[in-house]
Amino acid sequence: MCGVFGAVVPSGSGTQAAAIASLGLFALQHRGQESAGVAVSDGEQLMLYKDLGMISSVLDERRIPSFRGDLAIAHCRYSTTGSTVWENAQPTFRLGPRRALAIGHNGNLVNTRELLGQLSGGRGRLPASTDTELLTALLADEPATDTVDALVRVLPRVHGAFTLVVLDERRVIGVRDPFGFRPLVLVRLPAAPGGPDDGLWDGDDATAGWCLSSETAALDIVGAEFVRDVEPGEIVVLERGHAPRSVRFADATPALCVFELIYFARPDTYMEGRNLYEARRRMGLQLAIEHPADTDMVMPVPDTGAPAAAGFAEGSGIPYREGLVRNRYTGRTFIQPSQTMRQRGVTIKLNPLREVVRGRRLTVVDDSIVRGTTTKQIVSLLRKAGATEVHLRISAPPIYHPCFYGIDTQIETELIAASHTEEEIRDFVGADSLGYLSIQGVLAALDLPYERFCFACFDGHYPEPVPYDVARRKFILEDEGAVAGRA
Ligand code: SF4
Repeated sequence: MCGVFGAVVPSGSGTQAAAIASLGLFALQHRGQESAGVAVSDGEQLMLYKDLGMISSVLDERRIPSFRGDLAIAHCRYSTTGSTVWENAQPTFRLGPRRALAIGHNGNLVNTRELLGQLSGGRGRLPASTDTELLTALLADEPATDTVDALVRVLPRVHGAFTLVVLDERRVIGVRDPFGFRPLVLVRLPAAPGGPDDGLWDGDDATAGWCLSSETAALDIVGAEFVRDVEPGEIVVLERGHAPRSVRFADATPALCVFELIYFARPDTYMEGRNLYEARRRMGLQLAIEHPADTDMVMPVPDTGAPAAAGFAEGSGIPYREGLVRNRYTGRTFIQPSQTMRQRGVTIKLNPLREVVRGRRLTVVDDSIVRGTTTKQIVSLLRKAGATEVHLRISAPPIYHPCFYGIDTQIETELIAASHTEEEIRDFVGADSLGYLSIQGVLAALDLPYERFCFACFDGHYPEPVPYDVARRKFILEDEGAVAGRA
């Protein structure tokens, strides 16, 4: 999972595009915390800055003044292919024979090895080990003179999840793969009332610019208005002087990641016409119907469990209280990449409210159990703080299968539900009872059909087949590089 943002503003706006893209990205920090970067174009040349670290430290206000240009893309990374090293930060950049390109990618390709075989010069030409770097090289090499034509030629050969923001000298281009695994919205920057009309948008004097964003939660911070989702299989071209242009490179077969709605995306984001706070509250209501609990209070695992906990409390009639305080200045446990960091993470970021939990029977609502280690530590924290019973309720079904489309759950052995029964999981985490929301319960809460979503990590029905052995998938290009190095 990563965050992407793109912005096109009227010519002569100085560093406004970079400032808007960086600000928009700031609202997407939850989507990736390993690195951040921005690329700008002044119409002739691309400039790129990226580094490891949080957005606020990489794209701080001292750096923005040097990013002059009216077109910008920005990216924050959570790695799914390639290690967390500077070279793998995005946007990528490549100067090809026909074009300069920068790309920000959310998702994960599933035919990386096959695509590598199509790159003239092979692995040795890639300065980094991400699938995005490979895709950028293929697009930069493509002989079509126009970037959009190059995308239309190359993308049908690319499989897996790819939501892209692409920058060339003259355009910002948004792309969603035919399944639309990861979200992307087109938004409009309204002109300031009484502001100058520069007539740059096909005579539309009400619009001061166009943006692309992973989530609608970034709209308010940049003062933008939602226009529409970028459709699966669609390319949206943003160019100064023109209204957004739509080009299809494939038929849409929608399979949006349902986990975006359950957990990943911000609760103030809208997806599929649903506000995600409301959707999650309704998941909590469903959970209370499917797995009632006889306890003294309902509490969330903060922050992401809060909407479902509110719904559970509402549905069960049990009082809602907060029993854990979260340190807001640490990252999400799940998206930190190493097990050691994850284990440290939970005690760094959560502290029990002893006065609230002591002597009480708790219903604790969380949005998922992945490896089980974090949940075990939370149950232990609450018991040490004096809870007499801990009943876990999870507002998602058990995760039985790995994700190949942009979430770093690589292999079944990392997933506790893949190798343990629910009773064994309850025993492992130390809870008095455990209940997961069913797939039908998720759909009832969303009031949307199964066919619109990917549920593969819950039911194993992968919309896009994974065509090779996945054991070392994350480091596939590093392995290929080692092979090339030995040759
Ligand atoms: Fe989302 Fe799971 Fe599908 Fe991955 S496998 S895209 S996490 S629903």
